[in-house]
Amino acid sequence: MTAEQDVTVYLNGNFLPAAEAKISVMDRGFIFGDGIYEVIPVYGGRLFRLPHHLERLDHSLQGIRLANPLSHASWQQLLEQLVALNGGGDQSLYLQITRGVAPREHSFPHDTAPTVFAMSQPVGPVPESLRQGIAAVTVEDFRWQLCHIKAIALLPNILLRQQATDAGAYEAIMLRDGFVTEGTASNVFIVNNGVVLTPPHSNLLLPGVTRDLVVELCRQNGVPCVEGAISDMQLRDADEIWLTSSSREIIPVTRLDDQPISSLRPGPVWQKVSELYQQYKQAFREGEVT
Ligand code: PLP
Repeated sequence: MTAEQDVTVYLNGNFLPAAEAKISVMDRGFIFGDGIYEVIPVYGGRLFRLPHHLERLDHSLQGIRLANPLSHASWQQLLEQLVALNGGGDQSLYLQITRGVAPREHSFPHDTAPTVFAMSQPVGPVPESLRQGIAAVTVEDFRWQLCHIKAIALLPNILLRQQATDAGAYEAIMLRDGFVTEGTASNVFIVNNGVVLTPPHSNLLLPGVTRDLVVELCRQNGVPCVEGAISDMQLRDADEIWLTSSSREIIPVTRLDDQPISSLRPGPVWQKVSELYQQYKQAFREGEVT
């Protein structure tokens, strides 16, 4: 199976087979990593939390001073069409916008159309092995100061994730000045004495759509949940640690730097919040929530 598989993608106004979608080697996304992206889960053919993803897309574009080439209504139409062309059901949708094709010069080009790309393909449920708990390691967050922008330039995240992989772990949890920021592709939650805690939005982490939904679900269902700083020590002493992302939902960390967390099993608060998340997803799938 090649990376392109048998999927239909969207590129600059056209739907076409992935193998036929081509961009210029002079695209600033390729040359500079000058672009932003989104990943949106699709359940039962419906785009999950689409308004939240489109709002974050706007913020990312503002963050790199690039105008949104499409209205929210046009995005919705385009993305729904792409999902339908790939057979509906459950999918993972990826979209990317770069500053377009121009001579290699750092300053912004003038009058250059952005490159707009989207792809979507079927996915199965989150593997049960991950829901049983994963190992994580802590690493020093050496990224830049604009981590709230969902930038395609992910080399720091890749290098840090590889440190986790090399250590036989699934994710790296980043610490900056002794405080948790996030995972390389996830947000971090801890539980202490029944209270759920996650770092507040800031320029040092991505405002995860899953993170925000988890905070919302906790608050709506009487699970105490606070947005506040998590120190290195609090992380290590936590009763539970979770990672959240659109593609992996909520997964428990049961090992941190080779030390057991919550007796190597998913904790009771995770069980409860994960169930709330699944119920919400099911209601969405059935059209009961928008
Ligand atoms: N933080 C980073 C660095 C990420 O790359 C991601 C997702 O890929 C997240 C957090 C989680 O964000 P979301 O829940 O919107 O997928």
